[in-house]
Amino acid sequence: MLRINSWFSSSMRGLSCRMRGLTNYHLSCCVNTLLQTFSATWELADLLDKWEAAGVRADGRNVPLQLKRVLGAMQSNHHLPSPHHDFLHCLDRNNVRLHTQHDADEVFLFILNCIQQQMDDKSLAFQICSLYKISVETHLQCLECSSVQTETSYLLNMPLHIKDSHNSLEGCMKSFFEHHELKGRNCCFCAQCGRKTPSKQGVKLLSLPPVLCMHLKRFRNSHGFTQKLNCQVTFPETLDLSETVKEAFSTNFVQNGCTYTLYAVVVHSGTAMMGHYTAFVRPRGTQCWYHADDSHVVEVSWKEVQTVYGGRGLGQTAYMLMYRRDEQPEGEQASSS
Ligand SMILES: [Zn+2]
Repeated sequence: MLRINSWFSSSMRGLSCRMRGLTNYHLSCCVNTLLQTFSATWELADLLDKWEAAGVRADGRNVPLQLKRVLGAMQSNHHLPSPHHDFLHCLDRNNVRLHTQHDADEVFLFILNCIQQQMDDKSLAFQICSLYKISVETHLQCLECSSVQTETSYLLNMPLHIKDSHNSLEGCMKSFFEHHELKGRNCCFCAQCGRKTPSKQGVKLLSLPPVLCMHLKRFRNSHGFTQKLNCQVTFPETLDLSETVKEAFSTNFVQNGCTYTLYAVVVHSGTAMMGHYTAFVRPRGTQCWYHADDSHVVEVSWKEVQTVYGGRGLGQTAYMLMYRRDEQPEGEQASSS
């Protein structure tokens, strides 16, 4: 849907709260929505701002450089269509095609991956990755010889399975960390037994990131078709992980603050075949929620954000949730040596 771009939403209260809409260049709603959530992740924009990008040659192909420019333009009064357009074309050159429907979670992870691959300042790229990094320990216990293999890795967002019936974010997170049995074609190689055996897999948390991103897996493949689950998933505005998933903390868990506040929601409406993305975000410097539907931005209440829990036919449903760790009082911050 193409709309006339209103530079700043007319509903904005004062200059500090303003937020910019983004023109839909035919099916760019997915990228537009992600840009609004990246813009509300000001830690990211601040880190990109520090980047000089002196070593970048083919800048039209460099995703982090174009992201830095578009996020800068979204915060300023400068002319926007050019950096926004350049960003879309830059993604296109990196195979995230223009005029195509995309999956917001895939594009989100693709952009973070480009940041790691294409920034010449590896220290800054590492800091950006650390914003989202959920460090985990995976335990795999062989059900025949009981030996345990442990591996550490990290996720940039938490992929959460949802059930066909009512769900809550807290419930989905709990089941993410529950033990799962791997049998049949999912059997893994056991070094002790010297062959593939059934096993029990469990995931434990090693550390939590400043920005905790959750992906509600609403798209399910069955028999070659993608189906969308419109069922209800409730989510809170504030989340205390020391209550929700305390059992999932590893003995090596780095205690660094476990309370989070929601600041962005990627919303999908429609079906798996034909959909539209919008975002609810809390921009920098305000506690207010805004709904960004391409160029159209309006202030909304938390009650309106809650309408995307789902469970109402083909209505709007939350697809990705972004939480920011609450600042801790001085002296209570754990050192993560
Ligand atoms: Zn074994």
